[in-house]
Amino acid sequence: MKTMPPENTRPKKAPAVHTAMDQFPSKNGELHIGGLSGGNGNGIGIRQLAARVGQTPFYAYDRQLLNDRVAELRQQLPNEISLHYAMKANPMPAVVQHFAGLVDGFDLASAAEMQVALDAGMHPDEISFAGPAKGLHELTMAVAAGVTVNLESELELERVAQAGEQLGITPRVAVRINPAFELKTAGMKMGGVASPFGIDSERVPAVLQRIAELQLNFRGFHLYAGSQNLRSDAVIETHNHTFALCAELAEHAPGAVHTLNIGGGFGIPYFPGEQRLDLTPVCENLERLLDEYSVFDDTEIVTELGRYLVGEAGLYVCEVIDRKESKGEVFLVTNGGLHHHLAASGNFGQVLRKNYPVAVATQMDSDDKEVVSVVGPLCTPLDLLGKKMLLPKAQPGDLIVVYQSGAYGYTASPRDFLSHPECAQVLV
Ligand SMILES: *Cc1c(COP(=O)(O)O)cnc(C)c1O
Repeated sequence: MKTMPPENTRPKKAPAVHTAMDQFPSKNGELHIGGLSGGNGNGIGIRQLAARVGQTPFYAYDRQLLNDRVAELRQQLPNEISLHYAMKANPMPAVVQHFAGLVDGFDLASAAEMQVALDAGMHPDEISFAGPAKGLHELTMAVAAGVTVNLESELELERVAQAGEQLGITPRVAVRINPAFELKTAGMKMGGVASPFGIDSERVPAVLQRIAELQLNFRGFHLYAGSQNLRSDAVIETHNHTFALCAELAEHAPGAVHTLNIGGGFGIPYFPGEQRLDLTPVCENLERLLDEYSVFDDTEIVTELGRYLVGEAGLYVCEVIDRKESKGEVFLVTNGGLHHHLAASGNFGQVLRKNYPVAVATQMDSDDKEVVSVVGPLCTPLDLLGKKMLLPKAQPGDLIVVYQSGAYGYTASPRDFLSHPECAQVLV
């Protein structure tokens, strides 16, 4: 008969932990950011940066880390693949300006993002505009700018033709495909299901014919199958399906397929137990696909990435205002919270709330730790930045950072909610 070993000798399953956040150095117990901003490449201390910004809370993004991430991708991706920045991840004008000199193009999701992209000096030929609900007004702006419109519907196609006619300009269009396959492991499912995004693949041949009739400038295809993917096998599967489907649809194209945007969806680790995506097999598979699909030999293959480019380069910084104990639990009450960083509070599409990686940026070397919950200033229990985390003991005046905050932070949060002071942003 099998017996269980006694409780105290049974191997305990180790609790899942956050992957190491080693992208920012710490010196003398203080976190540093901004390798290009002095300090002999070690960056600026977080207290000095807070003084420079003149307030907490703020978001800080590190130029050096943006450079490093792009360089690393360029090194690994096949040379034939162009790298686009999906601006909605972080549309701060300084960040977009920085990327204008680093990547090959921008992908937009609104007309306001288009203005930022054009102001940053990106050539309109390298800009594509996706997203539903593009009305005649936005489409007219896009056609006048000369950017490529990624068509999300058949009505949008008629409207963009109308905009072109009114302006006397031939619109540049690509067809966004809603594929019949689904990417099972993506954080957010897009594809394989009824969708407000893209045109169902079975309807695409008819749409291509209509593009020919309307004599629009057909650029190619766009297929985006999901976001926040940490599994290389799932990304590979998506790429395989994407190439196969687009090669099939290319036979119906009204002309050459100039660009094939294969999406992106590369994830970054946010929660305990998550590991960084292994790009090596993904890139090897892309090499193989480029060899196999000679139909795309003269096509520019584009991958569009948002959070993968900026997410890990950003910190959200707030300040401990109060430290209180209640019924045996310790709360660090900060001036930052859900209103600035909805995702870290667990209210941006998460089913089960999990903690983002959080640190006491002014006590990085301290071994004197305690279990605390980090909460914000809003009068709602949803305003939680860290639940029961083991952190160095902190006092009012200490600075708390939330890592992995460079994407879907500032602009993805309800900053007016409860009318607390605005949050700042800096690119360091
Ligand atoms: C949001 C979005 C992206 C960027 O997603 P990330 O997860 O930030 O990489 C790329 N393409 C399209 C079409 C999107 O809607």
